[in-house]
Amino acid sequence: MTMRSEAELRAALTEAHDLYSEAESDFREQRFLSDDELRAFMRDQASAEKAAIRQAIEEHRIYVVAGSGVRRVHLYDCSSLREQVDRDRAWSPWQHGDPENFRQDVAHGDGGPRMPKFWSRDDVEALSTYVTCQICSPTLSHTKKSRGERTTKLTSLAARHIGRSLTSLDGAPLGVLERIVTTVDASGSSVLVETSTHTITEAEHTAVLVVPIEAQ
Ligand SMILES: [Zn+2]
Repeated sequence: MTMRSEAELRAALTEAHDLYSEAESDFREQRFLSDDELRAFMRDQASAEKAAIRQAIEEHRIYVVAGSGVRRVHLYDCSSLREQVDRDRAWSPWQHGDPENFRQDVAHGDGGPRMPKFWSRDDVEALSTYVTCQICSPTLSHTKKSRGERTTKLTSLAARHIGRSLTSLDGAPLGVLERIVTTVDASGSSVLVETSTHTITEAEHTAVLVVPIEAQ
């Protein structure tokens, strides 16, 4: 293992911080503006954010990941996100509120409505875990992606998988594996898998996802 020098580490940290500042607007400087200037600033900021959202959508970054514990994936136009994605609405309480409150909040590096981050499908699929929103139901490879979930061919399921939860490749639950029946005849061997809820053949699912024990 090679150790990174202190300078290299500091450069990496600065870079990370710059990226973070870019994404999270810091309004700290705005505390010196007059009330009218502040309201004009908020209007401009809302316009800039609307333009940024239009650009994200054009670039197919159409997913918003919300939630801190469970990452819930939405389409940007989900009704549950309206308060955040409609930037006029998001800024409205600030624009109509006392400018002094905004000034106080920005002085602490806070203030203003949080701008949602827009993700591409590749960004979302790279996440180790997520669930899809049931309101907007975005089309992704899983509806519930669990850490360590493995794609396993139906013919590769073995006794050690018994008792594990299976899901189809598109994320539909297939129940708990109970029995694997292999039939050998003149035309070759075929596999039939019985779960607590389904009887699955290779014709229906050539492969399934095996949910890891800790995620069941
Ligand atoms: Zn949604």
